[in-house]
Amino acid sequence: MAAAELDAQVGIIGTGTMGSTLAWQLARRGVQVLAFEQFAPGHDRGAVGGETRLFRLAYAEGHQYVPLLRDSLRLWRELEDEAGTNILTQCGGLSIGDPEGDYIAGLLASARDTAVPVDVLPTAEVAERYPQHDLRDGEVAVLDHQAGYLRCEQAVLSAARVAERAGAEVLRYTEVTELVEDGDSVLVRTAGGSSHRVGQAVVAAGSWATRFLPPRLASAVESRRVLLSWFGTEDIDAYRPDRFPIFIHHRDGQHVYGMPTVDDVMVKVAGVITAHPVPNPEAVERRHSAAEVHQVSDVVGKFLPGLHPEPLRTDAFTDLYTRDDRPLVGRVGNRIAVTTGHSGRGFKYAPGIAAAVADVLAGTADPRYEFLSPSRF
Ligand SMILES: Cc1cc2nc3c(=O)[nH]c(=O)nc-3n(C[C@H](O)[C@H](O)[C@H](O)COP(=O)(O)OP(=O)(O)OC[C@H]3O[C@@H](n4cnc5c(N)ncnc54)[C@H](O)[C@@H]3O)c2cc1C
Repeated sequence: MAAAELDAQVGIIGTGTMGSTLAWQLARRGVQVLAFEQFAPGHDRGAVGGETRLFRLAYAEGHQYVPLLRDSLRLWRELEDEAGTNILTQCGGLSIGDPEGDYIAGLLASARDTAVPVDVLPTAEVAERYPQHDLRDGEVAVLDHQAGYLRCEQAVLSAARVAERAGAEVLRYTEVTELVEDGDSVLVRTAGGSSHRVGQAVVAAGSWATRFLPPRLASAVESRRVLLSWFGTEDIDAYRPDRFPIFIHHRDGQHVYGMPTVDDVMVKVAGVITAHPVPNPEAVERRHSAAEVHQVSDVVGKFLPGLHPEPLRTDAFTDLYTRDDRPLVGRVGNRIAVTTGHSGRGFKYAPGIAAAVADVLAGTADPRYEFLSPSRF
């Protein structure tokens, strides 16, 4: 098939987190992009919603991710410059817990191996500098100076907008129903009955990606519901970014994380309830049940005593999780690649992943990211 007969060199299915940043990365490399989005960039029915996402450089989940995180730090700043907006606030990040426990030990090992600067603050210093947290004797905090939070809706909107400015075409309210590899190209069929021919296709469909995955991968993923809650306080000044870094606190098997206030009213807390499978991302229950409210209130009352423990707002979003919590990034066919299964962690390194996917499409895959290849299943 001659290039002239193609509608675009690359088709992207979904312009959520991964699709919008990929469209931007490809368009700035001069690649013709046609992206399909069943809703519109920045919508709140997938993994994007609730204003903020954690960004961290010291990464207990695996030192192999740190090059992606470093690339992403640079790329988020470049996106801010190109879009003329603020996306990342580096207010620092605290990881709080038992220094002998797996989480803090793993975090310190990863930071050491990757030369990410961190400070270990002893209990007394954490208590003095960050009285917002309840601390137990012996608990320490690892301060990651480069951590912070990303404004998620703004990031996706900005990436899509900058991509379109650079020549990418985004078809909104266009659901893709089928991808067919056809010799040197891929046929993309939509629910509206249109079909489009692209040189290569990338599935960036988040929680909905399963329908486009080969069976061996489809059985290795599931969509999960992730809960977020927001709390009020009598002293909102104590929860602004200059006094309240993002945090993750592990204690007695309980996990909780949160962000400083971004609206001068509420503080967001998450992680209390483990993400759980949902059969249909479309029909996810956004509200917390009474039992969920009770569980979150109980933990917030214990870990963050300065917040009113009854949530002012609750919400829930979905993400696609893989069996090993590592995303699927790479080829699944001769002309089809995927970036999905980001397992509740993918926002922070989205532009780094996008650059890695652009390399895959160009035939120059970075061997450092082989550990994310779908071929492992
Ligand atoms: C509540 C919550 C909190 C999180 N917190 C953090 C955090 O603090 N830090 C962090 O790094 N990560 C976090 N994550 C994870 C991160 O947000 C996700 O891993 C990431 O956003 C996933 O991006 P995605 O592009 O795969 O999915 P999405 O952003 O959901 O994008 C998928 C897109 O594909 C579109 N689509 C699907 N099917 C079709 C189709 N057939 N045709 C056309 N379009 C289609 C969808 O409409 C959607 O826009 C969190 C996730 C959740 C849910």
